[in-house]
Amino acid sequence: MMKVHIKNLGCKANTFDGHAIAGRFVRAGFVMTEDPALAKIIVINSCAVTQNAGKEALYFVRRYRRNAPDSLIILAGCLSQIEETSLKEKNEIDLVVPNTQKSDLVRLAIEKLELGTQQKQEYLARASRDNLSTDGDVFFDQSLSLRTRAFVKVQDGCDSFCSYCIVPYSRGRSLSVPRGLIVDEIKRLVGQNIGEIVLTGIHIGNYGKDFGGDFNPTSAGKGLLGLLEEILKVDGLKRLRLSSLEINEVSRDLLELLSKNKEVFCDHFHLPLQSGSDRVLKMMKRIYSAGTFQECVALVRTFFSEANIGTDVIVGFPGETEKDFNETMAVLESAEIGYAHVFPYSKRPGTEASKLPQDVKQADLKGRAEILRHMSREMHQKYARCFLGRSFPVLWEQDVDDEGRRLGKTRNYLTVAGEASVHVPRRTTSRLMAGSETQIKLEKMLQHDVILGYFD
Ligand code: SF4
Repeated sequence: MMKVHIKNLGCKANTFDGHAIAGRFVRAGFVMTEDPALAKIIVINSCAVTQNAGKEALYFVRRYRRNAPDSLIILAGCLSQIEETSLKEKNEIDLVVPNTQKSDLVRLAIEKLELGTQQKQEYLARASRDNLSTDGDVFFDQSLSLRTRAFVKVQDGCDSFCSYCIVPYSRGRSLSVPRGLIVDEIKRLVGQNIGEIVLTGIHIGNYGKDFGGDFNPTSAGKGLLGLLEEILKVDGLKRLRLSSLEINEVSRDLLELLSKNKEVFCDHFHLPLQSGSDRVLKMMKRIYSAGTFQECVALVRTFFSEANIGTDVIVGFPGETEKDFNETMAVLESAEIGYAHVFPYSKRPGTEASKLPQDVKQADLKGRAEILRHMSREMHQKYARCFLGRSFPVLWEQDVDDEGRRLGKTRNYLTVAGEASVHVPRRTTSRLMAGSETQIKLEKMLQHDVILGYFD
């Protein structure tokens, strides 16, 4: 059978798209492979959030072309959306599929393959029978049934136009999946014993904005809050996690609803800060201040006192001074963040910020990024140590070895290596891997922010 390899780059929404594309290939009769050297079709699902992200996608194109010269190489995702014309001129790429055509990617790939007429017709027939629910450019993933955790994309695109971000151009305006389809999908995943559902999207606080009429992201009705009310009613739902949320979309009502459902909702919030300097936030066109961010974190803690609150920070935005950077560090410190994903700024042509002169020296940019990454590691260790000696349910994601050791996540997103204090037969491991939680006592920190735990 013909094999397909997909390389997903960038954010969770892109990974989700990659899984959805994989599902379509499988239903059309292809087999997925982790090894690009074995693949007849290689899809690079690109990111374009920074210029470096675009370069990374092209690096993989060249590498795969070198190692698999006869494969069909397809560039999909955000880079293909914003640079479609110039990418089509590159000899190493056989097919460029922008985001607006991603639901048609499998058919386009089959058309490009050199196959006998009958075989091609068979593949095309299966691809056209594919019963994925589609709604414009937003679609569900039906391929995750064997995973411990499933991502359900509830919206795509963004209307915010932050000055550094290409997403509103590469993915278009916010588009939401109808609530009924999302709830049905979650019921299906729960029925398949998926242990955790993660609601994902590019800007999930915008959920419902495109349904028309008045829209308030922080109140019930057609927005995220109304969607969550419906999802939390699903019988058998074990864990629900939210991907990134903008702070102006975190309301008291939302937190109240989530805190009433603590047995299901995972106390882990990802709230992008981007900068702790109000001056830089303004240049970034972010619509909050550092003070509002701190208030939001404090509000979250009144409902979830032990929540793991993570954030994103961009360092070296044009015009960022040493003082601005120090303000960012101060906000992270005082808010007691659990971790920070640090992104050194790189110019993305086509964005408003790309017109600003880059006056932050590369050495300063790298130095600042390193300082914040170090800070993030320390913050994470400090946060994780608070939980040592206590027991928590852990959802297993992967086996480490045949002795019953495995890796999993607590509800507040700590990574735990489970050590079987008594022998755990393989069949027990298989049962645990099917999405169930085990009570684990957290013993000590290992390297790479992993906590060693024992079955309690
Ligand atoms: S909110 Fe801003 S940073 Fe996030 S996707 Fe939209 S434009 Fe980009």
